[in-house]
Amino acid sequence: MENSSRRIAVKIVVTTVLLAGVYFFVAEKIRRPIEIDGGYREVMGTLARIVVVAKHDWEGKRCIEAGFEQLKRIDAMMSDYKDDSELSRVNREAFTNPVKISPELFEILQKSVEFSRLSNGAFDITVGPLVDLWHKAGEANVVPDKSILTATKASIGFEKLILDMNERTVRFAVEGMRLDLGGIAKGYAVDKAVEAMRREGAIGGMVCASGDIRCFGKPADKGTWRVGLQNPVAANSPDSNGTIGAEQVLMVLKVNDMAVATSGDYRRFVTIGGKRYSHIIDTNTATGANKLSSDTIFAATALDADALSTAVNVMGAEKGLALVESLDGVDAILITAGPEYQVVKSGGADMYLR
Ligand code: ADP
Ligand code: MG
Repeated sequence: MENSSRRIAVKIVVTTVLLAGVYFFVAEKIRRPIEIDGGYREVMGTLARIVVVAKHDWEGKRCIEAGFEQLKRIDAMMSDYKDDSELSRVNREAFTNPVKISPELFEILQKSVEFSRLSNGAFDITVGPLVDLWHKAGEANVVPDKSILTATKASIGFEKLILDMNERTVRFAVEGMRLDLGGIAKGYAVDKAVEAMRREGAIGGMVCASGDIRCFGKPADKGTWRVGLQNPVAANSPDSNGTIGAEQVLMVLKVNDMAVATSGDYRRFVTIGGKRYSHIIDTNTATGANKLSSDTIFAATALDADALSTAVNVMGAEKGLALVESLDGVDAILITAGPEYQVVKSGGADMYLR
């Protein structure tokens, strides 16, 4: 008698535990993902924003912190503004002797050279001395002499950047060389942020560092991530309040599991004698690129999109589009320079506009 009532008690306990287990399992399975907007934070000389989709509030918040952490980490490594960054050390020492660098910096230098070859030199991280020169020219409001431009060009060229894969070192073949990763580092950082968020359990998200964006998974409402493509013409002219640079969206891009990057001359430029010079330099002319008002690139990774958007901005509509069409899974929307401001799209670009 005593034995059978004990057996019943055990059965009740076991059943209860099992039912509770099933309940929690099912509840977890059907739990609706939540979306958290981590907002904007200042990093890499710009504003970055992270949105995450996760199962739990605490998990989402952890993903956001992990994402921003990566953006900060890459910036500390690859900024040429910071004297103590790894890149700054390379810039100081690589002409004197080969400099041993981290696997990450080595990877990004290798990728940069790949994009230089692919774009016939339009993308070139050795552009540093010219970026400096035009920055100073803007402050002094004087266009640099032809002779100065020619002299500066001597210390530029990706083929003068010597990478040793076995030793993992970098060396400069000419004096005065200086690397500038402004056209690729943000994209790399965005990719690293996405990786970290996924590791922390994110099921979807969007990382945005000014013009460099990557989306993965879906928003919590199961729709698609939307990215506004700014109208460069509106950005150039005063709006009804008289504010120059008022943000106006020209198109809404629908982006899922994709990166998108925009380069343009309407946000960062110098004005000399009333004429505007882009912060993106054509190393052939040693002067600001002037063929496109803006170009937006779709690619699988933010690094690819970032480097290609800078390259295509230098190449212009015809050559730029030919490069884009030659690459698998890459598309583009270009806006030619004013006063025409023509919109030119690659074959597959309409997919992002539907
Ligand atoms: P943004 O910084 O506005 O997002 P980009 O990704 O196009 O725009 O990068 C522009 C930056 O890249 C410049 O500010 C400069 O640091 C660097 N840069 C300028 N010209 C070139 C070039 N021809 N190739 C590679 N990088 C460049
Ligand atoms: Mg770029």
